[in-house]
Amino acid sequence: MVSSTVDLLKKEIPVEQESLLISDDVKTGLVLVDIVNGFCTVGAGNLAPVAPDKQISGMVDESVRLAKMFCEKNWPIYAVLDSHHPDVPEHPYPPHCIAGTDESKLVPALQWLENEPNVTIRHKDCIDGFVGSMEKDGSNVFVDWIKNNSIQAVLFAGICTDICVLDFVCSALSARNRGILTPLKDVYVYSAACATFDFPLHVAQNIKGALAHPQELMHHVGLYTAKGRGAKVVNEVSFDAPGKM
Ligand SMILES: [Zn+2]
Repeated sequence: MVSSTVDLLKKEIPVEQESLLISDDVKTGLVLVDIVNGFCTVGAGNLAPVAPDKQISGMVDESVRLAKMFCEKNWPIYAVLDSHHPDVPEHPYPPHCIAGTDESKLVPALQWLENEPNVTIRHKDCIDGFVGSMEKDGSNVFVDWIKNNSIQAVLFAGICTDICVLDFVCSALSARNRGILTPLKDVYVYSAACATFDFPLHVAQNIKGALAHPQELMHHVGLYTAKGRGAKVVNEVSFDAPGKM
């Protein structure tokens, strides 16, 4: 898709973004969605980028920066990792992120999170991380994470902006609005720490049943939809007085 067309479409559904200053006064949690090899590492699988991808590598870099700050402050991080049983396909996607393979592991730049005490890792076998946090007994690991840590604001990062990030954000907003996530008030989506995949029309139209998915436009639509549901979209995240606890 030519960039002037994308610009034209973006003008029709603009997304105004704010900047977020995280202070010690508001207990903030970081949610990292699917920053796994199967979606982020070149050549790692059916849904991985086929060539180096600026939007995806930028998302990983910003997520690493945030994760380091949150760990330094010992603030809660919730990382969901896409992870499927080999016999249970996820229509309409081809097989991906099979449990136990490298595809369903955090990218190398984030693997250290596995050993951090403030990090909760949740494997999920569906698109929506909120649904993927449900246990058989009806409890929800994400809801417990919000409540047990008294989280008042949550910041989302990861992939894909318009799929797994969006669905999780929308469910979190609905749950918050129903009073299920007290004391959560604000749901932020950090645009520079989100990315989506590129599957342009000229490729998709040669594959039967495939849906075109132009990266820049779909990333924008994801942010637009999140904002329309009540999330705050930010393009800058900074920390108040680092080191002061
Ligand atoms: Zn999946």
